[in-house]
Amino acid sequence: MIIHESVAEWMKASEGGDASARGLVPTMGALHEGHGSLIRQCVSDNTQSLVTIYVNPTQFENPDDLSNYPDSLQDDIRYLESLGVSDLILPRYKELYPFDFTLFVDESLDSKVLCGKNRIGHFKGVLSVVMKLINLTQARRVYFGKKDFQQYRLVSKMVEAYFMPTRIVGMETVRDEHGLALSSRNRRLSPEQLNLARQMNGLLRNMLLSTDEITRQLNDWGFRVDYCEERWDRRFIAAYLGDVRLIDNVEMTADVRAS
Ligand code: AMP
Repeated sequence: MIIHESVAEWMKASEGGDASARGLVPTMGALHEGHGSLIRQCVSDNTQSLVTIYVNPTQFENPDDLSNYPDSLQDDIRYLESLGVSDLILPRYKELYPFDFTLFVDESLDSKVLCGKNRIGHFKGVLSVVMKLINLTQARRVYFGKKDFQQYRLVSKMVEAYFMPTRIVGMETVRDEHGLALSSRNRRLSPEQLNLARQMNGLLRNMLLSTDEITRQLNDWGFRVDYCEERWDRRFIAAYLGDVRLIDNVEMTADVRAS
């Protein structure tokens, strides 16, 4: 695997290269099997498989959340090598934001609900950095997890709206054996909190319960529910356990209703 320590290094190495079989998985690092599923698909679909690790400050509302974000670069590099990734790019703020955050991409409808309601500006940061990463890699396929379904939906709309010559590939959520969606933030949960977090998906999938009932139950167990809502034929939740914010969503299919 080639490690490009900066945008400049990547630009130099890729100059004149063939972008037609290039795939990209944008990440913030602290990699786990959830990222692994996107990366495996990217490696299998493309001759050149790129991963970026960049903790994007413009999408964090809360400075503590940004500074607490787990960092495990050496482990991540070993993991990416084991998956057969061809290039890892490690961009830096000054290169990605030559004019700071004075130029950006924003959306005024789907980005204002769910995770965008209490985190004003979150998706503006996400969309802007994703457009930069797609443009600088020229990747023809870009992989996103449906765990962050709102992000996947917004990025797909951006690519369509701006006629970007790439395809967004949505991948199903990877869970542990108890149904908990894998997340870098799970590492910050105590053993007791982890047990509670594992109950969340079961409640969310239970279509006999209303979103209000799920909210009440989770709050009783010590969560602080940010939202529990249905839209786009899915049921979404975001809830805090201590200062760790967990999100999840499920499709509202007949199967789920029966479970
Ligand atoms: P992150 O590093 O959290 O920005 O995630 C990078 C990509 O991995 C995003 O497209 C996420 O949706 C995806 N991802 C994270 N966790 C999971 C998971 N448990 N299952 C599937 N995709 C995931």
